[in-house]
Amino acid sequence: MCDCSAKYQKYLDEAKNGKNISAKGWAVENKSAKFKPFDFQRHPLGDNDVLLQILYAGICHSDIHSARSEWRDGIYPMVPGHEICGKVIAVGKNVSKFQIGDIAGIGCLVNSCGECDACRQSLEQFCEKAVFTYDSVDVFHNNTPAYGGYSDNIVVSERFAIKVPKNADLTKVAPLLCAGITTYSPLKFSHCDDNSNGKKSVAIAGFGGLGVMAVKYALAFGAEVSVFARNENKKAEALKLGVKNFYTTNDAKQVKERFDVILSTIPTKYSVKNYLELLKFGGEMGIVGLPPTSDNVGISVSELVFTQHRKIYGSLIGGIAQTQEMLDFSVANNIYPEIEMIKPTQIDEAYDKLTSGQGKFRFVIDVANNI
Ligand code: NDP
Ligand code: ZN
Repeated sequence: MCDCSAKYQKYLDEAKNGKNISAKGWAVENKSAKFKPFDFQRHPLGDNDVLLQILYAGICHSDIHSARSEWRDGIYPMVPGHEICGKVIAVGKNVSKFQIGDIAGIGCLVNSCGECDACRQSLEQFCEKAVFTYDSVDVFHNNTPAYGGYSDNIVVSERFAIKVPKNADLTKVAPLLCAGITTYSPLKFSHCDDNSNGKKSVAIAGFGGLGVMAVKYALAFGAEVSVFARNENKKAEALKLGVKNFYTTNDAKQVKERFDVILSTIPTKYSVKNYLELLKFGGEMGIVGLPPTSDNVGISVSELVFTQHRKIYGSLIGGIAQTQEMLDFSVANNIYPEIEMIKPTQIDEAYDKLTSGQGKFRFVIDVANNI
């Protein structure tokens, strides 16, 4: 841990005095820029808020899409990061869920209205006022920009902070907050944990940060799991986890196996139709991978009609209650991501690796020792 007690004392004083809280992070100034240190302000600690010292922040491929404005024009300067593990260092006066010293996780959401149908069902990601962790406007704090986890602290409503079990491996918790919940949620939605009619056959397409979590959950749920990747680089890792078949996407047309469930985590252009054709009659395909909008991944009406009774759906992270369920399940079953720890000076290099096929699974920024 860095010797930054003076820095954190300043943050605690600001929190106590109801002021904006200073923060240090790493940001990009525009979609082609490199990451640089960036000082900014977070909103004051509200009565229901917790202040976290960030320990670790995972790098999700969504960070890359956002930082490079691949979905829409981003909000800059942008501090990405929605896979956050931190230590609670201050609590607002109404906070009941956390005490100082507790470990908390924050994922893709930092606020929502709390009253609409979506919020009442703990599907906060679909609240019309949802505030995403970064690249989002915080309507609950004067429309200020939200800044993410590549930074030394974060203030968040306790409702959006997930309790991290005491025995968790903290170096590996952060990616669960996005890669974990984004794969756990659709695998549950598709009943991959229901073995009452025998093992489900599940294929995971895209074997990166999300894909490896999907494989681990599907195996833990008792399914028979196959992987589709774009090359054989990580075949040994997949087989070691217990995957039955490892296909490359060039194989897809030759594959004879048929699946009950396919979950696509692919972040680039690909043929959805090729995968739909690999479903059993009545099978379903969940899509979580979000290629750049310019990549125009789609399916025609006739392709859909002629795949009769094969279902397709999209899935966006998961609600807060299910995120807590996922984290508890993961720690209890020792399910963690495969990580490589990096410093903030290596973020650009990590992005390049993840887009050029040289990435393995998840890069995690060691924030506590380096920001
Ligand atoms: P990673 O870069 O870690 O992994 C992507 C994997 O997909 C890599 O292993 C890559 O292969 C592989 N891949 C790329 N193109 C193909 C292809 N055509 N066929 C098969 N495999 C392919 O990304 P993440 O796992 O972090 O994220 C994946 C996607 O999910 C992103 O688009 C991200 O934005 C999205 N996402 C969506 C969320 C949601 O709520 N719906 C939440 C979080 C993320 P290689 O190893 O060769 O590079
Ligand atoms: Zn993510």
